[in-house]
Amino acid sequence: MLFFVFSTVRYFVMKDRILPVFTHITSAEFVTSAVKPSQYPPPEFPEIAFSGRSNVGKSSLINALVNRRNLVKTSRTPGRTQLINFFLIEGALSLVDLPGYGYARVPAAVKKKWGPMIETYLSTRSSLKGVVLIMDIRRTPGTEELNFIDWLDREHLASLLVVTKADKLSKAQQNNQRRVIAQTVRRRTEDLILFSAKTKQGKASVWQAIQRIAAGDKNG
Ligand code: GDP
Repeated sequence: MLFFVFSTVRYFVMKDRILPVFTHITSAEFVTSAVKPSQYPPPEFPEIAFSGRSNVGKSSLINALVNRRNLVKTSRTPGRTQLINFFLIEGALSLVDLPGYGYARVPAAVKKKWGPMIETYLSTRSSLKGVVLIMDIRRTPGTEELNFIDWLDREHLASLLVVTKADKLSKAQQNNQRRVIAQTVRRRTEDLILFSAKTKQGKASVWQAIQRIAAGDKNG
């Protein structure tokens, strides 16, 4: 991976493609939805998956990253997105929106299908470089998050922990919650990125980490 400065805009060179960084995303397109591997697009591009509890702000995070209001549908009816959705960014980077988990109103039968669908994707997708795990700043992570992080570590998949809705708390409270959440998930405080889809706080840091992971860095 090469990293160079072009006036004030930074670019990453991935394979033979140049990917503009931060606010300079000009092309983001929906590719396809899938429930099983035969429906996945060819594993042509480095891929980053996004995961989190329903309503955590996953769609808002992806939309903010790609400067689009509605590429990924945000919904007031949590748990409705039950498919694995693939997006292509700048014709060079694949972003995957995984179904949200842990929503009480989803019927048990539907939940039972999600687990294997997500696990199959995560354990078989050859182009997958890492997973962004999104957590709400106002909530202490539970066993679902801990188990997931442990599982990603065991699978040698890079994980990027993003703590969203930061705007809901004061700066002092944000830093405190960041420490508490880091302790709970047994990571260093500085490994967690504070983010807000409302203020765009943390957007550049999330992009930087995503692009490092896409280029093969296990630690983001
Ligand atoms: P998803 O189910 O995880 O995709 O969550 P959404 O992105 O649809 O967001 C769920 C709700 O949280 C929506 O009402 C969003 O407007 C709100 N939301 C998402 N991100 C933020 C954020 O950073 N700050 C605030 N204040 N609200 C947010």
